[in-house]
Amino acid sequence: MRRKIIAGNWKMNKNLEEGLSLASEVTNMAADEVPNDVTMVMCTPAIHLSAVSTTTKDSSNVFVGAQNMSEYESGAYTGDLSGNMVASTGATFVIIGHSERREYHFETNAQLAQRVKLALSIGLTPIFCCGESLKTREANEHIDFVNKQLDESLFDLSAEDIKKIVIAYEPIWAIGTGVTASSEQAQEMHRSIRSFIATQYTHEVAKEISILYGGSMKPGNAQELLSQPDVDGGLIGGASLKARDFIDIAKSY
Ligand code: PEP
Repeated sequence: MRRKIIAGNWKMNKNLEEGLSLASEVTNMAADEVPNDVTMVMCTPAIHLSAVSTTTKDSSNVFVGAQNMSEYESGAYTGDLSGNMVASTGATFVIIGHSERREYHFETNAQLAQRVKLALSIGLTPIFCCGESLKTREANEHIDFVNKQLDESLFDLSAEDIKKIVIAYEPIWAIGTGVTASSEQAQEMHRSIRSFIATQYTHEVAKEISILYGGSMKPGNAQELLSQPDVDGGLIGGASLKARDFIDIAKSY
């Protein structure tokens, strides 16, 4: 049975004090208001992972994730963050291949494939991001584009391993823009992702994978997006920075 997941991506926001205050607000509100079958994740700046993990350690449904990790286990990679370091903080999720990292840090599908494998080998759950630009959508190439991202980064995984990952479909034109994909556009892509996985593996495998939607999700539009049969949750940027909004999204299920 695939999980319902509401994950927040704080990006480069919140100093430590602000981050800890947001994390404890979210954790306390989740305990009172969010059903236990909804998994919540806060993907914080790396420097906050350890402290935020302490805040959430007694929660049954709030977890912590990193926003990125290296494809290397350790070594002379100044400024980088290894999967092992992430796991040692108590974090259990890691975003891999966010479009901002692909764009500003030139991350490639091949590099992301290595990161996904390494994350899984350490016991972290990768939240693998995919999604097309506006130009690609307008050229009606969005499905092929996303299929290629999946193919080149995920399809070397065994059936057992691919079942452990979470996929986030995030159309680039909807991230941080206030423009959301319509529920039909989201469902079309999510269904396509699931059937593409089914053709590479099996329907049973595809059915197990949570596919999140990301791109200007907020309390006002969450319910409609989350009611689509292949939308299993959200990856939320801006609205995850306010505890009330983040919790209200999680309550929209
Ligand atoms: C994101 O950064 O993954 C994201 C979806 O951002 P926003 O919700 O602000 O569009």
